[in-house]
Amino acid sequence: MQLHTLLVHELSELMEKKEVSCEELTRDYLQRIGQVEDKIKAFLTVTKEEALAQARAMDEQRARGEALPPLAGIPMAINDNICTQGIKTTCASQILYNFIPPYDATAAARLKNAGAILVGKCNLDEFAMGSSTEHSAFYSTQNPFDPEAVPGGSGAAAAVAVGEAAFALGSDTGGSIRQSAAFCGVIGLKPTYGCVPRYGLISYASSLDQIGPITRDITDLALVLNTIAGRNAKDSTSASVDGPDFKKSLVNSVKGLRIGLPKEYFKTGLAPGVAAKLQEAVRKLVELGAVCEEVDMPHTEYAVPAHYIISCAEASSNLARYDGVRHGLRVEAEDVLGMFKKTRIRGFGAEVQRRIMLGTHALSTGNYEACYMKALKVRTLVKRDFERAFEKFDCLLTPTSPTTAFKIGAKAEDSLAMYQSEVFTIPVNLVGVPAMSLPFGIAEGLPVGLQLIARHFDEGTLLRVGYTLEQNTSEIRPKPGLSR
Ligand code: GLN
Repeated sequence: MQLHTLLVHELSELMEKKEVSCEELTRDYLQRIGQVEDKIKAFLTVTKEEALAQARAMDEQRARGEALPPLAGIPMAINDNICTQGIKTTCASQILYNFIPPYDATAAARLKNAGAILVGKCNLDEFAMGSSTEHSAFYSTQNPFDPEAVPGGSGAAAAVAVGEAAFALGSDTGGSIRQSAAFCGVIGLKPTYGCVPRYGLISYASSLDQIGPITRDITDLALVLNTIAGRNAKDSTSASVDGPDFKKSLVNSVKGLRIGLPKEYFKTGLAPGVAAKLQEAVRKLVELGAVCEEVDMPHTEYAVPAHYIISCAEASSNLARYDGVRHGLRVEAEDVLGMFKKTRIRGFGAEVQRRIMLGTHALSTGNYEACYMKALKVRTLVKRDFERAFEKFDCLLTPTSPTTAFKIGAKAEDSLAMYQSEVFTIPVNLVGVPAMSLPFGIAEGLPVGLQLIARHFDEGTLLRVGYTLEQNTSEIRPKPGLSR
């Protein structure tokens, strides 16, 4: 059996019934990685030995008759900006090329405790700054549907799409989970800010970063979210609310649900194939009993510039810790200052250096009011757009990205064009609400993503709409060209 073609909850059942062992399953995934990885390049590290050892331990636990959680024995991938104890975590940067964290990120630890098996760490843009993996210090990942196209910012989405992992964790500061899920035809969720602890996520922009799951169906998404959500005192921004059981949101009905269609997201610049799929999704939701109406979100166009001021400002401060003293790369020089300089020049790539400079500029005396404070005010205006929309609507529906996956190289030299590719996902991070990208068919050979956005801590509504679409259309699970 091609085990890597099955969903998490199907695999879980097979292991529960003892029809396959965790070791067999892990070997199947490792073999799949061996088959396709030279074409996809989704991983920076494959943890073969650790995975097999952990799999054998899981099998022993099961043989002893221990009750195991649903993710026990399931092979997973984690983006390489999420710390994993004893396993190299590079952030796709030269400056952390040899960094082995002495601890696990909370989300990674919770999955490990639930018995999930880490098969490897995935590629991303250096420090998650980008939308294509082209800013990785090591290599670019390829889109499983088209080797010439980018996968979005998370290699993990490509790994899940081709069956190198049954599910994955990514991070989302402006859209990395959702856009790469859309580009690779899988599901990606950015939870509410504070829903999943950020402890152990290597900080890029702390007020925007969130860890979230990437899966191939909504039931799997609920299982992963149930495992990783909930307060941890080590992250003071993690919310003190106890997460609900997300499986309760797997409801096949959108009857009476009010869905807003933000006008500004359907204007110019939307690829015709994406626009057509969106219309089809709206028709389907109406047919299923939802009420879809347009809504104004007038400050949408200012979200991208505000996001880049804020994220670069936070990054300039967060990345000050990489100085050749504490961890990672050190380039020797005559004196300490020289060592700092040489280390940071050699260790950071061009995009990261650009952002540190932009952020330092925005925070400097004389520019603080004009840049940083102004961006914070815009953030408030964008928030108010969402608050007003949520007075009338239960959730919002938009495209995840204006286009399907773009070609490798198409935007690599043009930062502004790259920044604009996340115009629909970025406002969500400024506001902190949850949003999910759901695959909805194919346009010109590449997957299209729908973005659903809900109120703070209302991930449940996203799962409900996703589950209903999954049960009532065949568009939800596109098969990559590099077939399973
Ligand atoms: N593209 C955005 C940036 O470069 C967001 C990327 C992300 O979500 N990690 O900042």
